[in-house]
Amino acid sequence: MYKYEKVIGLEVHVELSTKSKIFCGCSTEFGGRPNSKCCPICMGMPGTLPVLNRRVLEYAIATGLATGCTIREYSRFDRKNYFYPDLPKSYQTSQLYLPICYEGSLEIEVDGIKKKIGIHEIHMEEDAGKLIHDQDDEFSFIDYNRSGVPLIEIVTKPDMNSKEEVIAFLEKLQLILEYLGVSDCKMQEGSFRADINLSVRKKGQKELGTRTEMKNINSFKAIGRAIDYEAKRQIDLLEKGESIEQETRRWDDANGISLSLRSKINAKDYRYFPDPDLPPLVVDKDWVDEIRKRQPELREEKIQRYMKEFKLPEYDAKILTSSKYLADIFEKTVAISKNPKEVSNWIMIETMRLMRDRQVQVENITFSPENLARLIELVEAGKINRTIAKEIFELIFDEDIDPEVYVKEHQLGVVDDRDLLIKVVQEVIRDFPDSVTDYKSGKDKAFKHLMGQIMKRMKGKANPVLVNELLRSELEEL
Ligand SMILES: [Zn+2]
Repeated sequence: MYKYEKVIGLEVHVELSTKSKIFCGCSTEFGGRPNSKCCPICMGMPGTLPVLNRRVLEYAIATGLATGCTIREYSRFDRKNYFYPDLPKSYQTSQLYLPICYEGSLEIEVDGIKKKIGIHEIHMEEDAGKLIHDQDDEFSFIDYNRSGVPLIEIVTKPDMNSKEEVIAFLEKLQLILEYLGVSDCKMQEGSFRADINLSVRKKGQKELGTRTEMKNINSFKAIGRAIDYEAKRQIDLLEKGESIEQETRRWDDANGISLSLRSKINAKDYRYFPDPDLPPLVVDKDWVDEIRKRQPELREEKIQRYMKEFKLPEYDAKILTSSKYLADIFEKTVAISKNPKEVSNWIMIETMRLMRDRQVQVENITFSPENLARLIELVEAGKINRTIAKEIFELIFDEDIDPEVYVKEHQLGVVDDRDLLIKVVQEVIRDFPDSVTDYKSGKDKAFKHLMGQIMKRMKGKANPVLVNELLRSELEEL
């Protein structure tokens, strides 16, 4: 197999998180009663006229700018004609000839090697409805709630050669879209889905092999498996002297195989033509500049800023920015507590541990930055010890409790009462005469033992610095 290389290009469909659909005012909210979120426009009734949702265009431009694309000043919508029951108009409104963004790229890094992946274009289009086959023996049902939900399709050049590169590209793209706030990128709800175009060729060969397309694979793991399987299938065919059919295949993740779905349809089979119902789009340069100015800080910039402004190690900065939600929690907490490294530690260690334990996704974290900041403050001021702080943090994570109130109510604060501590120190000295003798003969371990006994009697809540001081002075006096 060493003499072959994979050539992979992607078509990534991203559902935009606008409130309303692309050409009408219907809600884009996920779920709901079938056919409760549609109107004559998104149902494709004759005589209706679509009007483009300005926010869709804005999100497409923002994505184009963040991926180094050129924004086309004069673009157009085209009709992609095909009949399918989930497509009420019998054509999908899309962009073929003049897509809104073109010629961009993203840099990925795999095993320390950087590589630029070209983006051929980004175009806007509408989603189709959903067919439901499993509720009746005789009939299929159609739910048009998704019909007309805005999508952008990001088409890459065939610049990837391994599943690692594909996953690195998708992860980077997903994070950019998340930071831009243009999509929630939930693969399980289908708002971020990738089609994989894959071919193989002998190493050193210039021309591309015949490619197949695998559609709608809904997890990164499945994408990796599908690539391995499909590359092997193609190589086996070539080794047997057979040829590869250009076709669309369906990846069956449960059985770990890809199956032929239909022979690949070419662009000409769709009889594309400019949509006469939608006027050409003329994008004002000033507006593009305005969108550019409003672009949020993306991950690379954040990493640099965290290292410079908060003096964090690169390792911390990379983890904290690995999700927009995590970065948000970090920044909000730092704004209150002014102790970046402590905040970073609480997020990287305890927060991430509890996310794993409780199986909580980062976007579903509910604790408030205020309560984490208060907890850090209590530890810093020596009012509670770290063991207790960790226990309290679990309650903050689960129920967002106020740690100050909790410490007071449960008397968890560190004991600073000199008189009380002297009493306990004296008791321990009296109860462990052997350790005292050992200490006097110069054995340091005996001091630790006595400290341990005092802390045990205080249930770990004594101020260790004060106990240390009191114990030493009491022992001196003997
Ligand atoms: Zn509608």
